[in-house]
Amino acid sequence: MNICVIGTGYVGLVTGCVFSDLGNEVICVDKDADKVAMLCRGEMPIYEPGLEELVKRNVEDGRLSFSGDLAEAVRHSDVVFICVGTPPLENGDPDMSYVQDAAKSIASALNRYKVIVNKSTVPVGTGNMVREIIEINRRQNVDFDVVSNPEFLREGSAIKDTLEPDRIVIGAPNQVVAMKILELYAPLERPMLITDVASAEMIKYASNAFLATKISFINSVANICEAVGADILQVIKGMGYDHRIGAAFLNAGLGYGGSCFPKDSSALARTAQKHGYDFKLLNAVMDVNRDQPIRFLDRMRSAVGGSFQGKTVGVLGLAFKPNTDDMRDAKSVEIIGALLAEGANIKTYDPIAMDNTRRIFPQICYTHNAYEAAEDADVLVIITEWNEFKLLNMERVKTLMNTPMIFDGRNIYDPIKLRRLGFEYHCIGRATAAQK
Ligand code: NAD
Repeated sequence: MNICVIGTGYVGLVTGCVFSDLGNEVICVDKDADKVAMLCRGEMPIYEPGLEELVKRNVEDGRLSFSGDLAEAVRHSDVVFICVGTPPLENGDPDMSYVQDAAKSIASALNRYKVIVNKSTVPVGTGNMVREIIEINRRQNVDFDVVSNPEFLREGSAIKDTLEPDRIVIGAPNQVVAMKILELYAPLERPMLITDVASAEMIKYASNAFLATKISFINSVANICEAVGADILQVIKGMGYDHRIGAAFLNAGLGYGGSCFPKDSSALARTAQKHGYDFKLLNAVMDVNRDQPIRFLDRMRSAVGGSFQGKTVGVLGLAFKPNTDDMRDAKSVEIIGALLAEGANIKTYDPIAMDNTRRIFPQICYTHNAYEAAEDADVLVIITEWNEFKLLNMERVKTLMNTPMIFDGRNIYDPIKLRRLGFEYHCIGRATAAQK
């Protein structure tokens, strides 16, 4: 099939690559000329494990190409995927202007029947909105259908998630068009749900809001563990073995970040509000998530003597999670911002995300490795649980630091071992261990 993918971000680029790898002819379009130029040179605008090789292979085989010419790419295709961003507005609604612009551009280029597939995460009703925009703006009276096909990939494992999704959701106005999209995904041999457009749109928001709920729930339990002397890691194990609960997304820490959970939770709460329903549970989930880094900073401030003024803080990990360079809504931005505002000096290291962080915090010190970040630090903070941080020589870290104090926001170290080495070690929800 001839496919056009609009938007070559984390979702569009991976989707385009995988569809081309399955034998389709794919043109990936972006309005960002620099991104298109990079991709044409074989350089990746984002970090995603395995992506560069996949792009290279499919470009060389002639099935994948990149272009800034949206009209030409749409005219050439049978199926058009909209994969543009839907970033949050101040009021919590998603900014729909990129989807609207994409729909207008599709309308002007519509030359024969096409299926327009919305992969961006969008509120219920967007399928109708896209249909209306195309109907109003099309230049030729040709038919088209609009389908919702929400994306569930996770950054850091996006290719694997796209090749082996837990499920594929196709929200279509009728069976014929649903079958056309089903045919595209058939080689993956994964469970598929064919439903109506509105339900498909809601499935995406409900899924992300539910995962956010799991995270805020376990963080709340961790906060109680600290107070009552229980160990959250043991609690998680004991809960996770119950298949009705499951261990996934039960990690106590600094809370959820990234480009999806925060924005999708607030978007769903806004949808509820607009329809007269107060989604109390989801509002509480967002409150807990907002408070979690504040609690962490409060504990750290007390531990360093009541003020960060003049303190050197080593920060390990910047990306919102391991294996990505994505800094959108990363906890590091919140924590470093607060530390800087209170007069701390920051030395930091992240294996992949330092270039992106430099654009946000040009004034902090970027080091070559974790040991350099720890050197002369009064406190070392773990924000992203990259594997390499788990394997550090902690004796060496201790000798490098000004004061051997660690605030581990992701529970990656063994409290007993670190305390035996002479660290003052603080983590999340592990009071029992703290007392040992
Ligand atoms: P992104 O910001 O990385 O990429 C979006 C791309 O779209 C950008 O390169 C931008 O230049 C391009 N673009 C915007 N308007 C355009 C237009 N009119 N024509 C051509 N290109 C245009 O975004 P992303 O992270 O890939 O997310 C895309 C959508 O998928 C969002 O709705 C997001 O919520 C959803 N989603 C993201 C993830 C994720 O992990 N990133 C997972 C599932 C769903």
